[in-house]
Amino acid sequence: MQFDQAYSGKVFIMSQPDFNQAKAVIYGMPMDWTVSFRPGSRFGPNRIREASIGLEEYSPYLDRHLEQVSYFDAGDMPLPFGNAERSLTEIYQHVTKWLEKDKFPLGLGGEHLVTWPVVQAVYKKYPNLKVIHIDAHADLREEYEGEVLSHSTPIRKICDLIGAPNVYSFGIRSGMREEFTYAKESGMYMARYDVAKPLAEVLPNLAGSDLYVTIDIDVLDPAYAPGTGTAEAGGINAKELLEAIHLLANANVNIVGADLVEVAPAYDPTEQTAIVASKCVREMLLGWVK
Ligand code: MN
Ligand code: MN
Repeated sequence: MQFDQAYSGKVFIMSQPDFNQAKAVIYGMPMDWTVSFRPGSRFGPNRIREASIGLEEYSPYLDRHLEQVSYFDAGDMPLPFGNAERSLTEIYQHVTKWLEKDKFPLGLGGEHLVTWPVVQAVYKKYPNLKVIHIDAHADLREEYEGEVLSHSTPIRKICDLIGAPNVYSFGIRSGMREEFTYAKESGMYMARYDVAKPLAEVLPNLAGSDLYVTIDIDVLDPAYAPGTGTAEAGGINAKELLEAIHLLANANVNIVGADLVEVAPAYDPTEQTAIVASKCVREMLLGWVK
């Protein structure tokens, strides 16, 4: 199994060609085999890379330039189509290798289930891990139509693994009644509808913590990100999502890995979903990879 060479040709703008020199590894997890509604997020990572060509390399928000961050783009992992279990094992093994080399894993989805093996790998290295989850959906189901490996279950699995009080969800506006009851009773933190304001309130309590941050692009209102499998009306705008990324960048926390998932380009002929996602990735690199 290779883990220090690129799997495919497309790369995020300004990627470092040498794996060994890089602080972070960008990698695509082109998996969409467990989605409950519209598939297509397997094509998300490469569209985000293509859209990155249109970005400025300088961020006026953070006063940083991409040449100040060193990251290698590994391309999209070759995953076994249709086999969720083996795909998750592959993802876990690759991320474990990168963590052993002290790389910051920055994953691109793919459906949200891909976050599950990544967090398992990161938690093994950082046993005091806390997870920040930004999404329209609670993703707290135990199963979907009898299937526990579903893109509607990853946050529940993460709660079971690291303890619900270590999980912080923001922007949530969709889920079953049982999921909201679980959120209330389990001791996890859940902010409904909004992201930046509750995040600013919570961050002082997380001072010094090791954080993994997972962003589901459908937290954005479909007006800003129609290209996603399970679009959900009533979301935040792109400015608020960027503000959340910058709040995390400026907080006294140790971000140890992150992902951005559920970009499904086929539903967005304007390409604005990939465009906003690529800008978010730029700000994540500039703000979170220290
Ligand atoms: Mn999700
Ligand atoms: Mn979602």
